[in-house]
Amino acid sequence: MIRHYTEIYRQETLSRFSMEFAGFRSAVMTELRFSTTAHYTSDGLMMIKQENGQAVVQTASGSAVELVFHLIERVEIKQMGPFSGGTITLSGDDEENIRATVVFDGLMVICERLFYRHRPEWQPGRFSRLRGEIPTPEAIEAYLQDDDWRECSECAEAWFDPEEFSYCPECGSLTQLYVDG
Ligand SMILES: [Zn+2]
Repeated sequence: MIRHYTEIYRQETLSRFSMEFAGFRSAVMTELRFSTTAHYTSDGLMMIKQENGQAVVQTASGSAVELVFHLIERVEIKQMGPFSGGTITLSGDDEENIRATVVFDGLMVICERLFYRHRPEWQPGRFSRLRGEIPTPEAIEAYLQDDDWRECSECAEAWFDPEEFSYCPECGSLTQLYVDG
């Protein structure tokens, strides 16, 4: 499980999220990005493994929340932003088949797993907050070495990338540097 992120997979976590971010319904999404993990098979076919996404949402009370969409099933963008007025609903009858639906004005994302992270330090501004690789729940720890390089906890490969999330160039694992404790 990735550190610092909370999964919204039950009504209890959704209720807690709604209480923590009471301004979510009048919030504005200021950044949104998607990634597709793909590779070529030996006979040249491109296989798409998963589609993930990440967003920054600024609430009216001045606190920001980061959303991570994992295994996206559907995205609908009806108009360009600003995407405002967020709601999250969960559907599915058991925990295996949960789908999270995130809706803003003009935007809908349906994914299998949804995560959030409180970002109190992310005030609205001109520059992008989202950098490095998009987090996924399979991320493993990278150890910070004395020279600021990072070491993969799976294969011990070391490389330099100061971003929190970075793919190991040797084994391909997504690694997370455990920053701020
Ligand atoms: Zn590795």
